[in-house]
Amino acid sequence: MIPAIRGTHDILPGEIERWQQAEQVVRDICGRYGYREIRTPVIEREELFAKGTGETTDIVQKEMYAFEDKGGERVTLRPEATPSMVRAFVEHALEQHLPTVKIFSLGPMFRYERPQKGRYRQFHQLDVEVFGVSDAALDAEVIEMAAGLVEALGIEDAEVVVNSVGCAECRPVFGRALVTALGDREADLCGDCRRRAAVNPLRIFDCKVPSCQPIVDALPHATNYLCDACRSHFDATTGLLEALGVAFRVSHRLVRGLDYYTRTTFEILGGRLGAQNALLGGGRYDGLVRRLGGPDRAGIGFAAGMERLVLAMPDGSGPRAPGAVIVAPGGAAPPPARVHARIYYGDRSMKAQMRRANRTSARHVLILGDEEIARGSVTIKDMTSGGETLVGWDDVVRKLTGDPIPAPPEQPTGSRRLRVRDTA
Ligand code: AMP
Repeated sequence: MIPAIRGTHDILPGEIERWQQAEQVVRDICGRYGYREIRTPVIEREELFAKGTGETTDIVQKEMYAFEDKGGERVTLRPEATPSMVRAFVEHALEQHLPTVKIFSLGPMFRYERPQKGRYRQFHQLDVEVFGVSDAALDAEVIEMAAGLVEALGIEDAEVVVNSVGCAECRPVFGRALVTALGDREADLCGDCRRRAAVNPLRIFDCKVPSCQPIVDALPHATNYLCDACRSHFDATTGLLEALGVAFRVSHRLVRGLDYYTRTTFEILGGRLGAQNALLGGGRYDGLVRRLGGPDRAGIGFAAGMERLVLAMPDGSGPRAPGAVIVAPGGAAPPPARVHARIYYGDRSMKAQMRRANRTSARHVLILGDEEIARGSVTIKDMTSGGETLVGWDDVVRKLTGDPIPAPPEQPTGSRRLRVRDTA
């Protein structure tokens, strides 16, 4: 046996139903907020992420599945979707075709990370992006939509966290303030943080190493260094979130691991997830479209980890039972009807088929015995009440979706939930 590669996983029947349900909710919500779906290739030029995600990020420095293809070109499996979405926006001049460019995508991403619960090397993201709108009303709308998605999936104890990392004007000022505040203590930081202090000091806030925490906790906060324009954008965003009734917490440590963010950053954390508890994260990236060779357009979006959403969904959202099970001894082919039903193939006995039907959690069993076939009808057994009724095929759908079939007048003692009917 050749096993799957470490950090990748199969999604099997039994689990896939939860994925389908999550994807359905995703599509519903994206549609309601006016997003159109796009699908981009999983393989792109390496430089798209070096430039887009950022040379100094862990993703680009350590985690990309990058290689030279047979034509000698440097390519990579995509580690995230935003640079691809920006590329597609520019390459297809999407703003000429869509009134407001609101797009979403679902698909696999690849990062060579250390696998653990909720962290994989191939994982799936929902990616949501909007281009060309710099109004804070959109920041609030995007965060509200993300919170609405988590809620619609039935995930409880989720927490919305927001921050602002400023813009090209005020972010460098804050970076210098961080280095000044560190002073001599920089030498006590871990190796990663010392490297960050030199190239991108804001990223020190991402550090999880325990010995760095007291030093990081004492550092100044980005929101105290915002320029006037960023300050009023942040105040407008948080004010609108309050008006929309979205509960949130401001965290100065939320700088996010990617280089392109400007102004608003946000995450939604899931209570039950353990160490890898970020369900989704995103923010504004007003300079990125230009950096990747496009026009000067604002951008904002988020990416949600589908594995984590599915993991955090409540247990009740498991496999859905088929609408009905057809029991047809003697291999009788059921007449066509618009019924979502499971049928057992092969000419097993009525008793064996009934036993299998009983093991599913189907609400109804459709019985097609000799008598029913002779009369051109079918017996519907309601598995909850135990009641049965004989109907013509034209009435099957109405009966299955209508009121429960009343229970039979008296249940034989010691009967199981399902009794094998005597068809003789
Ligand atoms: P990022 O693209 O790093 O901002 O991550 C956005 C979301 O994708 C995170 O909040 C996670 O839910 C999910 N995610 C990121 N990396 C992984 C991974 N290696 N495995 C599973 N989910 C991930």
